[in-house]
Amino acid sequence: MTLVPHPPSDVRRYRDAGLWGTATIATEFHRIALLHPDRDAVVTTAGRLTFRELDERTDLVAAGLAGLGLRPGDPVLFQVTNRIESVVAWYAVLKAGLVPVATLAAHRGHEIGGISRRVGAVAHLVEAGLRGFDLVGFAREQQRDHPTLRHVLVIGDDARGVGLDSLGAGIDPRGARALVETIQAGIDPDAVAVHQLSGGTTGVPKVIPRLHAEYWYNAVEYARSWGWTERTRVAHLIPIIHNAGVVCAVHAPHSVGACLVLATPDLDEALPLMAREAATHVLLGHGHYRAADHPDFDAAVKAVTQVVLSGAKVPPALFDGIEARGLWSGQLFGMGEGLFLTTRPGTSRLARATTVGTPLSPLDEIRILEPGTETQVASGAVGELVCRGPYTLRGYYDAPEHNARAFTREGFYRTGDLAALVEIEGEHHVRIEGRIKDLINRGGEKINAEEVELLLLRHPRVTAAAVVAMPDPRLGERTCAFVVVDGPELTLPEVQEHFAALDVAKFKWPERVEHLTEIPRTLVGKLDKKRLAAEIADILDAERTGRS
Ligand code: AMP
Repeated sequence: MTLVPHPPSDVRRYRDAGLWGTATIATEFHRIALLHPDRDAVVTTAGRLTFRELDERTDLVAAGLAGLGLRPGDPVLFQVTNRIESVVAWYAVLKAGLVPVATLAAHRGHEIGGISRRVGAVAHLVEAGLRGFDLVGFAREQQRDHPTLRHVLVIGDDARGVGLDSLGAGIDPRGARALVETIQAGIDPDAVAVHQLSGGTTGVPKVIPRLHAEYWYNAVEYARSWGWTERTRVAHLIPIIHNAGVVCAVHAPHSVGACLVLATPDLDEALPLMAREAATHVLLGHGHYRAADHPDFDAAVKAVTQVVLSGAKVPPALFDGIEARGLWSGQLFGMGEGLFLTTRPGTSRLARATTVGTPLSPLDEIRILEPGTETQVASGAVGELVCRGPYTLRGYYDAPEHNARAFTREGFYRTGDLAALVEIEGEHHVRIEGRIKDLINRGGEKINAEEVELLLLRHPRVTAAAVVAMPDPRLGERTCAFVVVDGPELTLPEVQEHFAALDVAKFKWPERVEHLTEIPRTLVGKLDKKRLAAEIADILDAERTGRS
């Protein structure tokens, strides 16, 4: 079974409780656009679109996509950055009944090749003119020997693909609207709307199917958790076509008629845009935890009433520093698989500073289990956070073996995160205490350790490998590879050349290599990652303090 459905009794419960709607995402968006036609829907440094403009434009592009022969259910790979056209493409693809696959612009052949074959991608959307890499040329290459990938769609100008701009040219707007309505009428609200990618599982990234009603509901509850209205202006700096981007910055603001102020990760660009557009809410991922040190920060947050920190544990000094500027701060814990926790307005300062709050939905169920078991820990103790609910997946796409390990018998998703439930002012909040899943969290981008180890072992001279996170002041963590090699030691450039030759996304390349004669193992024979992580932390400490 490729798709694991929610049990019918739960589906009924979610609908009876009014959580799941009966419309597709494209239909929900159109309904909102009719309610708020003249409000800004999205603003970037390059331009702005009102809801009416975004709605009309995406109808036309959707009709153009249908005209190419793309059919409802066809998966479309998205490999784009934070541009206004990316938001246009998002809704246009949904309106045409197609299924966006949220890959990263940083992904390369190793990732895209596997993912696009697993989902049977039919089109590949890329952007022209990306600094440093020819995504259009890459997309053309990916088509080779790929039985399903028929179209390269391009944001910007490039004759090697079909321009998004040209799609819909000359189409009658009323005809386009009618076509979109016909397409949408044929889509089940519980069908797959979007494929997200998992950051936190073993081996290659797994595909997370998100369904129309539950995915929209996720966003509606997110907006509700912060008390957003149509006057909210949500700034977003991290990749938009990622789960946090789509839920927190596209669907959630749009679900209430609010505006997305779409910036890029570059603070020199993002902060002035926030100032000009009077952003009222900003989500800061780990890579931007130090944004407050930037000279343009104060001007950027003049109208901001909520600063949300997310992606990695929040240091107390950081939280205090932001609040000391008179900025209300909160935390978000979220994942592509579903569950979101937030510290809502009204949450005590202690809970906002030290926990990630409470689940979005009244029907979310969370438990803390002894890792590897189905036994709940004692009240307040640390264990693995597991969850089940109206917007958490019941299984990865086409991954039955992995699903058997990733879920409890009762269908709770094992997050791989360590957490404790703490009581503050009579309410239970979740405090994140670490993780048991083997990954590196590089500025919010997850790197799977096992995936990198398997890639290292493909080097002809590497006989054993273990990959661990090393602390980094800017990104939180970076990848350190411990290797055992045949012959002379491998230099870091040699290792990186190997990853380049395998066409692996650069953010996954090891950033340090240490040589061992043997990889230490635990008593049960597993790679002793704890020991290696401690070892590299010591080495870095010694280097910093000048000890040898
Ligand atoms: P992704 O699906 O890429 O968004 O990654 C989800 C994972 O990011 C979670 O399972 C956590 O390991 C991590 N994460 C997200 N938010 C937080 C947070 N506020 N604190 C600590 N870890 C977090």
